[in-house]
Amino acid sequence: MVYYDRFRLPKSVAMRVLSQRRSIAEMNAETRHRNLFNNDATFKALFSEWFLLSMEASRQQVEGLPTAKKARKDADVVFSKYKEYLQSIGLDENYRAPAYLCKICNDTGYLNGKFCACFKKLVREIASNVTTELVTDIRSFDKITAHRTVNPKDLPTYKKFYAFLDDFSTNYSSSPYKIVFTTGKPGSGKTFALSVFYNKVLDDGGEILMLSAIKLNELFLRAHTAPLDSRYEILELVYTCDILIIDDLGIEPIYNNVTAPYLRSLLDQRDTLTTLFSTNLSNEEITDRYGTSILSRFYNKVRSKVVELTSNTDLRIKSAADATLVEKTKTAKLEKLAKDNQGDETH
Ligand SMILES: [Zn+2]
Repeated sequence: MVYYDRFRLPKSVAMRVLSQRRSIAEMNAETRHRNLFNNDATFKALFSEWFLLSMEASRQQVEGLPTAKKARKDADVVFSKYKEYLQSIGLDENYRAPAYLCKICNDTGYLNGKFCACFKKLVREIASNVTTELVTDIRSFDKITAHRTVNPKDLPTYKKFYAFLDDFSTNYSSSPYKIVFTTGKPGSGKTFALSVFYNKVLDDGGEILMLSAIKLNELFLRAHTAPLDSRYEILELVYTCDILIIDDLGIEPIYNNVTAPYLRSLLDQRDTLTTLFSTNLSNEEITDRYGTSILSRFYNKVRSKVVELTSNTDLRIKSAADATLVEKTKTAKLEKLAKDNQGDETH
């Protein structure tokens, strides 16, 4: 199912890719060995002799025999010949080790219990193909220098929100907040903040998905018109991923019997999981569109963190103007970034 793939979590896809890389490297190495053994008589003889002598030396050593040292020397002599022969045919004694793509983690994706750089890179590449709502490449809250475009009186709100998201990106699972509800006028930097959050969680190896409300609504409609037994499968990812970001709630068209009821069941399904929203809607508009039960969930004092971004200038326009000053070095990517959000990566 094509549409399903589009929403598949970058992290699980990356894991699958790595596991494929690993099996291919291992299979290739084994095939190389088997081909040599079956087709090269000199190799077969040297390998077998060394293998037997080496086993024998180990046995004698374990049994503490006085001849053990000599046995090991005999094995070493054959090993040297075996190594020389390998060199003469263009191999070394490690020819049997799989040639992993990443020499750091051997394509496991992990290094000392942390995600390897190759894994993060892969996740990022995959994410850039499945997530179209990202408006920035900034992946860390201390890299944000957007403050200067915010009205000084609003600065504390922004700094507090960034600090909250920074914290939340690592402790979301233990936080009492299951919903983060960000409101504010268009251009106040909601999507930008959530995009940085998305990038950061992704880098930390978290399971996160970001969708515009329009895409989510499309998914709802698809599920609604699908046979009953495949509905859950269509919605499984948005129901089960650790963190879901729904950007710009309210820009989607309202489909009767779909938009509001499916949003309600999404919130039910994600009761213990983390969901972040951004919206321009007022409380009245939320009630009108989705009903009071959804409004009360967004504003639940215990489980929901509500943040209103209040900048009274459109940050997108302001930073687009800033961006023209550095036109010379600007790439297409930076251009998009400047237009869509209030930040830049340089000081
Ligand atoms: Zn690696």
